[in-house]
Amino acid sequence: MSLRELLNDVSNIIFPPQCLACAEMINQPAKQVFCCACQDKIHFITDDFCPICGIPFLSSPAGSHICGNCLENDPYYIQARAVAGFETVIMGAIHKFKYSRSISTGNALGLFMAGFSFPDFDFSGYSLFIPVPLHIKRLRERGFNQSLLLAKEMGKKHNLPVNFSLLKRCKSTLTQTGLNKAEREKNVKGAFVIADRKKVAGENIILIDDVYTTGATLNECAKVLLEAGAQKVAVLTLSRVTEKHA
Ligand SMILES: [Zn+2]
Ligand SMILES: [Zn+2]
Repeated sequence: MSLRELLNDVSNIIFPPQCLACAEMINQPAKQVFCCACQDKIHFITDDFCPICGIPFLSSPAGSHICGNCLENDPYYIQARAVAGFETVIMGAIHKFKYSRSISTGNALGLFMAGFSFPDFDFSGYSLFIPVPLHIKRLRERGFNQSLLLAKEMGKKHNLPVNFSLLKRCKSTLTQTGLNKAEREKNVKGAFVIADRKKVAGENIILIDDVYTTGATLNECAKVLLEAGAQKVAVLTLSRVTEKHA
């Protein structure tokens, strides 16, 4: 047994692993971050979604097709995919992770995200992960960037580098909560800059974030990266708001 495994075992005795959503004890902590009851409530997005933005069609009999939003405004990113819907279990875990400054919850959610297969996504076409950055003011308040914790686990799993200093948030934007799509787009316009254009040129980039809401922030990031010479940009998020808009 390695020292790391030993320390892990000891910490599991002192702090028994708990479900990230309901705090129930977990039997197989190496494999699970949610208890079975919570895991069953998660809506994994595996089929019947828009091939561009990834919105699932929950009750549509039409199966996968390009949604109305993407037909109207083709996004800058090539495709966006999420692990699961932004519903009770995932929402609770993300809130805990962000607002109680729980880095261990963040790492566990990173493992959860990295363990998902993203069924139609071809990782071999990409060269770099970039987490959506926080403004320095927000980073000071929160103490860490939640997207970077997710990106780190994705980088390990898919054997791709993670760069958290190439894309910077230069404008401290208002919270996006309560804003509609057009207001969100206006709010994030000009909020991001590239620190080193040479390092972006020719790269095939996967942007990582915790939640895809309207996609305004992620689309703005993709736009800035493409303008700096990136070859293509895709988006992977832990969760996605799934209100019907198709
Ligand atoms: Zn649970
Ligand atoms: Zn779409």
